[in-house]
Amino acid sequence: MLVIFGASGDLTARKLVPALFKLYRAGELPQNFVVLGVSRSDLTDGAFRKRVVLDSPHLSDENDNGASDEQIKGFAKRFFYEDVGSSYDSDYQQLRNRIEDLNDMFNTGGNIIYYLSTPPTLYETIVKNLANADLNTQNNGWKHIIVEKPFGYSLKTAKELNRGLQRFFDESQIYRIDHYLGKETVQNLLVTRFANSIFEPLWNRIYIHHIEITNAESVGVEKRGGYYDKSGALRDMFQNHLLQIVSLVVMEPPIGDAPEEIRNEKVKALKSLRIMRDEETLKNNTIRAQYVASEIDGKKIKGYREEEGVAPNSTTETYAAVKFFVDNWRWHGVPFYVRTAKRMPTKVTEVVIHFNTPPHQIFKDSGIRGKDNKLIIRIQPDEGILIKFGVKVPGQGFKVERANLDFYYSCLAETRVMQAYERLLLDAMQGDATLYARADEVEAAWEFVDPILDYWQNGKNVRMYGYAAGVWGPENADDLIEGPGNWRNPGEN
Ligand code: NAP
Repeated sequence: MLVIFGASGDLTARKLVPALFKLYRAGELPQNFVVLGVSRSDLTDGAFRKRVVLDSPHLSDENDNGASDEQIKGFAKRFFYEDVGSSYDSDYQQLRNRIEDLNDMFNTGGNIIYYLSTPPTLYETIVKNLANADLNTQNNGWKHIIVEKPFGYSLKTAKELNRGLQRFFDESQIYRIDHYLGKETVQNLLVTRFANSIFEPLWNRIYIHHIEITNAESVGVEKRGGYYDKSGALRDMFQNHLLQIVSLVVMEPPIGDAPEEIRNEKVKALKSLRIMRDEETLKNNTIRAQYVASEIDGKKIKGYREEEGVAPNSTTETYAAVKFFVDNWRWHGVPFYVRTAKRMPTKVTEVVIHFNTPPHQIFKDSGIRGKDNKLIIRIQPDEGILIKFGVKVPGQGFKVERANLDFYYSCLAETRVMQAYERLLLDAMQGDATLYARADEVEAAWEFVDPILDYWQNGKNVRMYGYAAGVWGPENADDLIEGPGNWRNPGEN
């Protein structure tokens, strides 16, 4: 059984239920699968079914994709609803009775996932009440709890939240979701590195010059200005999604694919990031910026500070770029450049491995400039892998041109590619926590991010740059990158 707290909210309707429906259509949900939605709104089972399934605009695609009305109705029958009073702080005995009834009706064996999709301030209240009603014990079926992001606001709050959850649930029961880990291409980082023998020998300081990770969104804060203004690019994207990707790039080979073996290596990787502590280092290695009012194709675009819900004097960044080093044997001296921003020219996430130039240039007039070999792991969109290398231009002499070896996931036409939430929900049902963040992983990531946030908030004369919508951030961000290169903007050679 999946018990969703915050069931009347956006995430449930827009992500969770469509993911469940895709799994249902693919026959991947257990036969006795049932959903109990829980929130404060006064809804009947029927009204809840209408809201998240029968009348949901987020399932209309499925109709277009050939889902029959019968299928949708059959799916809706598995949805039930229970309200929890005004503050999620009521007696959970009634909830317990409802859960027991549904367990009997669907013969679930007492296996339950509690999905916390409420504001994070309620997480501890909910788990405490679940425990008080004896809904956390595993003597009659397993109990897992999925926790949505944001996981904490700082190292201190993340630790408090971890301790708060661990008072009532064992760490092995807690699944901290980072939907980036549900993306095929993110998981493919592991396979690219550790199922092939051609990349790993080059995956170190001897052959790699630097590594860039870009996460760009073309939209602004849209209707989430109020939420975003309290968060910012570093908290919203960097601390979680981007550092998860960093950990997969940096980690050592695990001894196997068991969840704890992979997670142990990721924690080691995150703990090896060099934490920036002094103001001079923080000043030279971090850049923050906000998008300003501008025009694209004659259309006026609001500046961040004019967005609804955003303070007119806000110092929340919509662009964050960070240069850092990894203090271990493999990565000594290799700079990592990671940036994330809104209102960029396009929506893209990619990892670019820049290899060193050959030690000796034989082809002096070849036209090769700088560091030409790149491995690009495209996380979204057009998921795939590109290798850029030099080939000879036919004809006299040794002119060299860049060529690409490309692989696109879309080429695997026969395979159904699961969306992130599908994969993660299914894993939690199967008790596989590989793609969920462990407590020490989340804390190690905050440990790295905290000093940057502190410097941006309290440092002396910290610049807040501006950039127009539709450009790749402030020009000054190129100052972070050493040598001949600027940031490699996706789409460029
Ligand atoms: P939402 O639309 O605001 O829904 C929040 C849910 O919590 C509602 O069902 C609301 O229902 C309930 N709730 C209880 N007490 C509340 C309170 N004091 N204020 C507001 N709502 C309250 O939020 P959401 O977008 O679904 O997000 C849910 C969680 O997922 C949040 O932690 C969010 O950070 C995280 N998340 C969301 C997304 C996304 O795409 N939406 C993405 C990543 C993470 P009742 O009023 O009926 O109780």
